[in-house]
Amino acid sequence: MCFRNAVPLALLLASAAASQVPVTSTMKPSDTEVWKPVPVVVTPGRTNADPPSDALVLFDGKTLDAWESASDGSRAKWLVGNGLLTVDKAAGDIRTKRSFTNYQLHIEWRIPENITGTSQERGNSGVFLASGPFGGYELQIVDSYNNPTYVNGQAASVYKQYPPLVNAMRKPGEWQTYDVIWTAPTFKADGSLGTPAYVTAFHNGVLVQDHVALKGVTKNTGLPEYKTHGPAPILLQAHGDPSPPISFRNIWLRPLPR
Ligand code: MG
Repeated sequence: MCFRNAVPLALLLASAAASQVPVTSTMKPSDTEVWKPVPVVVTPGRTNADPPSDALVLFDGKTLDAWESASDGSRAKWLVGNGLLTVDKAAGDIRTKRSFTNYQLHIEWRIPENITGTSQERGNSGVFLASGPFGGYELQIVDSYNNPTYVNGQAASVYKQYPPLVNAMRKPGEWQTYDVIWTAPTFKADGSLGTPAYVTAFHNGVLVQDHVALKGVTKNTGLPEYKTHGPAPILLQAHGDPSPPISFRNIWLRPLPR
């Protein structure tokens, strides 16, 4: 057994409570050792950017097989070349073919060096951490390197809900990383909200969203609200701003338990 020669913890706690003796005074180190279940061994990548052995690779630089057009489920038509995925604004948003609940996501993106425009019209895109007929939850992508805009709409904001804790933006032409922990909302049988969605996010390795509770789907106009949904695809935004398109690379995900 895992608790070798140990009095069960519950028994110890009960007897300590009865005798008013601080429980720790009667405990051995082994009483608080947990031996099972043993965490699964995962081989980390060479850097934190490389997918670990249990990751689901969503874009490896070669194919868009994991993606489809968000408007009609047809083949995703964004540009793949030189290991990059570049937004085709005319082709519209793309989404993963698979749906997810809770996960860890890594995604890299780059504002082109020749970016133009100001405020929200400067490399606007976005990662919708879940999307569907209910709407979506956007972690904003836009150039926020010396580009003032409303702070709850700058890069790494949960759009119109939470500004990032800091601005960790690299300049245009350099690669940016997002590492995100997404906890999907849960809904009661009657469709009302059980628990909200939570986001923790790192921008270029820097904590920018610390387990924030979302107020609902992110909206450009109006207030956030929840509509019931289950597992949902991740969506990348083809924003209609007139600036040159941004690129992505190295997208991977690790599903997490509910
Ligand atoms: Mg956006």
